[in-house]
Amino acid sequence: MLKKILYTAWILILLVVCFSLRNVTYDSFIRSMEDRTFDIRQTVMTNSKVNKPSDDIVIVAIDDASYEYILDKYGEWPLPRDIYAKTAKYIESQNPRSIAFDLMFVKSIKSDTKADSELVNIFKKYDNVYTAMNLDNQPQDLRIPAVLPESLAVNINNNSSNINFDYLEYYNCRTILDEFFKVTSNIGMINVLRGDDGVLRKMPLFLKYHDRYYPQLGLKVALDYLGLKDKKDFTTSKTGEMVLSEEVKIYPDTDGGVILNWYGPAGTFKNIPLYKVLKAVETGDTKSFDFKNKIVYFGATASSLFDIKTVPVDKVYPGVEVQATFVNNIIDGSLIHKVPLYVNFAVAILLVLLTAAVVMSVSSLPFASAVLATVYFVYIIITYYLMRFCNLWVEIVSPLSLAFGAFVVTVIIKYLIKSRDFDRQYKLATTDGLTELYNHRYFQEQMQTAVAHALRYETALSLIIIDIDFFKKFNDSFGHQSGDAVLRQVAFELKRNVRASDIVCRYGGEEISIILPNTANEEALVIANKLCTLIGTKKFKLSGGRESNVTISLGVSTLGEDGKTSSELIESADKRLYNAKENGRNRVN
Ligand code: GH3
Ligand code: MG
Ligand code: MG
Repeated sequence: MLKKILYTAWILILLVVCFSLRNVTYDSFIRSMEDRTFDIRQTVMTNSKVNKPSDDIVIVAIDDASYEYILDKYGEWPLPRDIYAKTAKYIESQNPRSIAFDLMFVKSIKSDTKADSELVNIFKKYDNVYTAMNLDNQPQDLRIPAVLPESLAVNINNNSSNINFDYLEYYNCRTILDEFFKVTSNIGMINVLRGDDGVLRKMPLFLKYHDRYYPQLGLKVALDYLGLKDKKDFTTSKTGEMVLSEEVKIYPDTDGGVILNWYGPAGTFKNIPLYKVLKAVETGDTKSFDFKNKIVYFGATASSLFDIKTVPVDKVYPGVEVQATFVNNIIDGSLIHKVPLYVNFAVAILLVLLTAAVVMSVSSLPFASAVLATVYFVYIIITYYLMRFCNLWVEIVSPLSLAFGAFVVTVIIKYLIKSRDFDRQYKLATTDGLTELYNHRYFQEQMQTAVAHALRYETALSLIIIDIDFFKKFNDSFGHQSGDAVLRQVAFELKRNVRASDIVCRYGGEEISIILPNTANEEALVIANKLCTLIGTKKFKLSGGRESNVTISLGVSTLGEDGKTSSELIESADKRLYNAKENGRNRVN
């Protein structure tokens, strides 16, 4: 009983501790573990080349070789901007879908008016050329925040209570050349979203800046590709779905970012080093590259240029490839969609119920554990294939940790039930139902043990056998039910008036035996006489509110004096009892 209370208290304390720690550590721990399962799923997917990057996206990479070439030829970084102008013009001659510079033509850095205006003219001439800007929260006394033109902003009509597009909010920015604002609205933000662990798994769709929303560069480039260049209004439904076009729907996460589905480690997209394009520009070679209908992304991949991110599938990943992945995800509809909370919840409930059912119904714990380990493994495999084929992110960590919790709790409950069953079975096997005394078999076992123990340790041992006098008559006059009641009360009184170490058993019909360890003959006789007087003077309650008294006769035997074995002792006590009857009953012999 005490054990059960302790177990229950332990479980309660454990649950309370888990629950109170939940908000602080547990939630963020579970979240970061869940992110890791996403990373592993993505790594397995990219290793088996599940997602293929689009041929329509080409990266002109400022790689290490190009960087050296540029330093050699044009002096220090950054490159004079007319070089980009010339390169863009060269690419434009092949009719690309768009050109996107994942580079910022910052106002404060190395401005060469002539070269700058050549680049600005490119943006004026071609409306499929994009450039980037970065928002930040630098102090406003350091630089006055630029006022961005209205043409860059978009409107969001957010009907989902789960999505917060204000998650990333900025008050300042690194301003690019003013002239860009006059000639183009093809300017996108290149801020990113990182997890608590610094890993980039999502891209923001919009950035909030002075109460207006500005789209990410990748979103603008993707919309251009989809023929939605002028889209200004973005609506999310109650369920969190954002419809871009009939074919393209995206699912922003709670922080307004979309979860990227990776194509592979760095270098997955077709990369052309900038120096090769520059050489082609210089030599007038128009054959070597095919930019027709391509999205051409310019960006730095050289390790010395520091535009490096950590992503689920690689530790070193250039920002321009992140942009390309983002654009590619939107145009091929492969962004990852987290399933709604209630689906994860339902799955968790299902796993918990299954766990409890298996633990309860399988009798062997190792076998139950093996079955459940298989079930959990299959579940993990299913979540992997859901991500692989349906772009769905079904949670692994919360459902499995709940299921594991259920496993522990049900094992404990099962153990408690088992031990209670065992106690009950043991009691049933050793006690008599009517008197609640030990039964005859238990008496025989205990006699053997007591004799062996007494002989081994040379201690005393006595036995009393008791028989109710004229009980047949008693039954005849008062009825069997009254007989039963008296038998029960006699048993109770006998038990109550001996030591806890004495073993009181129902020997037969209305015969009761008492094993008295560590008790010599004289002492046993004293006890027997005391019991005889006690029963003889007590009034017992009968059915129907009547009362009556009974007497008992007792036979006493002691180890050594009356025998050396259990059966000799019993025989001797029996004989004495017979003598007591013969001598007039209600006495000890
Ligand atoms: P005595 O022992 O004094 O010689 O006379 P007695 O009438 O008690 O004789 P004996 O011990 O041989 O008889 C046993 C009687 O006890 C038979 C039966 O009616 C009664 N008896 C035995 N077991 C039970 C029982 O569980 N319930 C009831 N009501 N009576 C029982
Ligand atoms: Mg009798
Ligand atoms: Mg009898």
